Amino acid sequence: MCGIVGYVGSEQASPILLEGLSKLEYRGYDSAGIAVFNEGKIEIAKAKGRLAVLEEKTHNGATVHGTMGIGHTRWATHGEPSDENAHPHISNSGRFAVVHNGIIENYIALKQRLIERGFEFMSDTDTEVIAHLFEYYYKGDIMDAMIRVINRVEGSYALGVLCSDYPDQFIAVRKASPLIVGLGEGENFIASDVTAILKHTRNIYYLEDEEMVVLSKDGVTVYNKDKEVVPKDVFTVNWDISAAEKGGYEHFMMKEIEEQPKALRDTISPRIKDGKIVLDDISLTTEDIKKINKIYIVACGSAYHVGVVGKYVIEKMCRIPVEVQVASEFRYCDPIVTKDDLVIVISQSGETADTLAGLKEAKNHGARILSIVNVVGSAIANASDDVIYTWAGPEIAVATTKAYSTQLAVMYLISTYMADKLGMITSGEYARLISEIEALPDKVEEVLKSKEEIQYLASLFYNCRSIFFIGRNLDYAVSLEGSLKLKEISYIHSEAYAAGELKHGTISLIEDGTLVIALATGRDLFDKTVSNVKEVKARGAVVMGVTTKDHDMTEVADHIIKIPSIHETLLPSLTVIPLQLFGYYVASLKGCDIDKPRNLAKSVTVE
Ligand code: GLU
Repeated sequence: MCGIVGYVGSEQASPILLEGLSKLEYRGYDSAGIAVFNEGKIEIAKAKGRLAVLEEKTHNGATVHGTMGIGHTRWATHGEPSDENAHPHISNSGRFAVVHNGIIENYIALKQRLIERGFEFMSDTDTEVIAHLFEYYYKGDIMDAMIRVINRVEGSYALGVLCSDYPDQFIAVRKASPLIVGLGEGENFIASDVTAILKHTRNIYYLEDEEMVVLSKDGVTVYNKDKEVVPKDVFTVNWDISAAEKGGYEHFMMKEIEEQPKALRDTISPRIKDGKIVLDDISLTTEDIKKINKIYIVACGSAYHVGVVGKYVIEKMCRIPVEVQVASEFRYCDPIVTKDDLVIVISQSGETADTLAGLKEAKNHGARILSIVNVVGSAIANASDDVIYTWAGPEIAVATTKAYSTQLAVMYLISTYMADKLGMITSGEYARLISEIEALPDKVEEVLKSKEEIQYLASLFYNCRSIFFIGRNLDYAVSLEGSLKLKEISYIHSEAYAAGELKHGTISLIEDGTLVIALATGRDLFDKTVSNVKEVKARGAVVMGVTTKDHDMTEVADHIIKIPSIHETLLPSLTVIPLQLFGYYVASLKGCDIDKPRNLAKSVTVE
C-alpha cells in the first residue's frame, strides 16, 4: 500500500525523493507529496494525481531546497484523493510534517479530542491526527513525543516525521506496515521497500514493530519504546529491481496471496470494538435494516462469487431473501427492485462499468445502495448511499486474491451486524461469530503454510485439459471462485458445479483420469457431497478433496487438502486459499503470464 521515502544527506533532497517515489509507483497511488527541511522551516509540495503533476509543480524538485526530507505516494483509505488529503500532513504550528502508510483505527476519537483542544484539521484523513498529536505531546524531545504518539494510536503505520527543531535528523517508526532503512555513505534513507533506494544503497536494516529510527547524514540509530538502542544486523540486498518490486516474489499474485492475512486484519480489526461490530462508515440504521424487503447483490467476476457466498450467509443469518445477479445481466433484465430493497454492489476498483450501470439501474428504482469497494473515491463509492471499504491495499495482479478475501470478510461483517440488529442471533452466537471473524487472519496464515503441498499437487495435474470443482452451498460458492482462478491464469478449461447437479447432465464429461476437486467442508452436507464424490469416482475421476480437520475423506479422495476448523459460515475464507495456490502453481508450471493473463484487464471499465 502506498509509498514512503525519506532522505538525509548532502544532496538536494527533493529530486532524490521524487525519483524514489517513482520507483514505488507500481504499488498504486492516487496522489503524492514531499516535505523538505529548509532554513529552519519545513516546505511542503503535494498534488493529487500522478507523480508527474508533482514533478511539474516543483520542476522535478528543483524549486524545493534542502538536504533532508520525506516523500509519499498516497493510496487513500480515509478521505478521497485530493490535494488536501495528500501527505505530508503538518501540525498547526508547522513544526511537524508527517507521512503515513496504514490506517489509524481510533482516529475518530482522537480527532474529536484534538478539536476540543483547539487543533484545526485541514484534511479528511486519519493520518492528520498524528501530526497534531506530535504537536500536543512535544515537550522538546522528539523521541518522547513519538513514544507517546505510538502509545496513543491504534492500527497500522509506517511513519516518517520531520520536526523543524531538528535541522539534521528525522525520525521514523513502523507497526504492521512496511518500512526499511537504507544505509549510505554520508546519506541515509527510509523507504517502503528497497526499490526506492536501490540506486543509492543495497545495505539495509529491517525494523521490527514499534522500533523507532533516528536518521542523520552520518548515522542511523534504532531504538525500542524504552529508548534503548537496538543493535541491528545490516542486510545486503542482492535482488534486481523487478524482484524487489515484488518483495522478492516471482509474481504480484503470490505476493498478494501472502498479503491476505494483513489485508484481512486491516479490514476487520477497525470494525470490531469491545466485542461489537462497529460500522461507523454507514448510515443504515436498525430501523432501515428492519424495513428491508429483499437484498440484491450485483457484481461481476470474483466479486459476484463473493455475492454467492453472501446469499447463503445473509439468508441463513438474517432470513431476508437475497438475489445475486451478474451486473451485466442485472442492468438489462428490468429488475423488480423497489425502494424497500437494499442493493449491495461489490467491486474492487469501484469503476467496473457493468456494476456501475447496475447500481444506476437500482437507484432509478429508488433502492438503497450499499457498496463494498477497495478504491476510495471511486465512481461506485461516490454513487452509493453507503460504502464499506475493503482495506486490501492496491491489488496489481489481474486475478484477484486479497480483494476477494476482504470482500468476503466485509460480507460476514455486514450479515452478522444485520442479524444482530434484527435480533436474529443470540448474544452468545454473536460473540462467537465475532471472535471467529477476528481469528480469520491467523487461520488464513495457517492455511498458507501448506503451500508446498499444493505446489506438489499442482505438479501432478498441470497437464490436465479439463478440471471440475464441485461442492454444495458455501462450498459451491467457493468452487466458482476456485474454477475461475484456474481458468483465468492457467487457461485450463474448468467448470464449477453444485455437487448434486452434476448428475443432471455434466457427469457425462467425467472420464478416466478427469480431475475433480471436491470441496466438502461444511458439516451438514458433508455426507451428501461424499455421495457425489463416489459418483464421479465410479466413472473414473481422480479426486482431490478439500475438507476440514474434522472430516475424513480418505475413503473417497485420492488426494486431500485439509484446512483448519472455523465457524461454518466463515469456511469460504479458508477453503479458497488452497484453490488460489493451486491455480497459481498450475499456471506457473505451465509458464503462463500469471500477473497479466491474456485477454484480461484488471479493471473492466467498458461494457
Ligand atoms: N490512511 C492514510 C490515508 O488515507 C494513509 C493511506 C496510505 O497508506 O497511503 O491518507
